Amino acid sequence: MQTLDRLRMLIERNGGFVNAHAHFDRAYTAQTSDFENNNVNAHLFKKWELVNKFKSESSIERYYNHISEAIAIQVKMGWSNAALSFIDCDQISENRALTAALKAKRDWEGTYDLKIACQTLQGVLEPEPRKWFDKYAGAFDVIGGLPRKDEGREAEHIDVLMKTAKCNGQRVHVHVDQLNSSDEKETELLARKTIEHGMEGRVTAVHSISLACHPEKYRKEVYKMCLDADLSFISCPTAWIDHRRNERLTVTHNAITPIDEMVPLGLCVAIGSDNICDVYKPFSDGDMMAELRFLLEATHFYDIDSLVKIATENGRKIIS
Ligand SMILES: [Zn+2]
Repeated sequence: MQTLDRLRMLIERNGGFVNAHAHFDRAYTAQTSDFENNNVNAHLFKKWELVNKFKSESSIERYYNHISEAIAIQVKMGWSNAALSFIDCDQISENRALTAALKAKRDWEGTYDLKIACQTLQGVLEPEPRKWFDKYAGAFDVIGGLPRKDEGREAEHIDVLMKTAKCNGQRVHVHVDQLNSSDEKETELLARKTIEHGMEGRVTAVHSISLACHPEKYRKEVYKMCLDADLSFISCPTAWIDHRRNERLTVTHNAITPIDEMVPLGLCVAIGSDNICDVYKPFSDGDMMAELRFLLEATHFYDIDSLVKIATENGRKIIS
């Protein structure tokens, strides 16, 4: 049997893929016009604003169709039967995406286990987005965060997430260290905040790419902190492997969560597709086997038992 077939068989035997991080509400929204006007090549921060047009125009029904189509295709591919999707909930999308996601959750129950987290794409510190966050946070399975959206006040952003999650008995998933830059130290901040709020074992870092840019001494210190915080990780391999070339000198690495260092230390790692066929990742199809192959190749990580856990049970553990 070929190694890849064996890996696939073991994943199926262990319950199938868990897509631990996705944005199903915007799946299959990439347009030909996004290529014509070069939106697909915009910087991440610009794309955060570009999605506003879709968000403001989308009805509950349209959101439902995108979420449901994403689930249907995940099921059809045969790889995944559970996911945690971030869902926009702010003054632009209002609660339309949330209402649609809750209906999709019910409709797919028994076939597909959909969990949802709030996507705080407008931050949580300004009065308007905060109003939406406070009103609807309790409707989500997991509290989601994006500290960079409240730039300069990232620690405060995380405080809001943690306090809310603690109050509601929810887990927290936070987008951190996305830009593959040694200027970023968000994984360290998240680990420190997890301990400060007594949320050990309840917090997950999504991405943590930039950690790989730092020298070994710093990485080791952060891993130790992450072990103390019992911080878990989600790697979304194709989401950031496309990081652009630049002239800055850093430690040699691939633009991916450094799981080859994390897993042997005992840190829990899961895998996600992140964006599927939208302005962020127009060619991504949500194929979880492709994601896993990118992960194992980009990190030269060949431990089959650990890869199976990353694909299945680790995700199940951290999405609910
Ligand atoms: Zn994301």
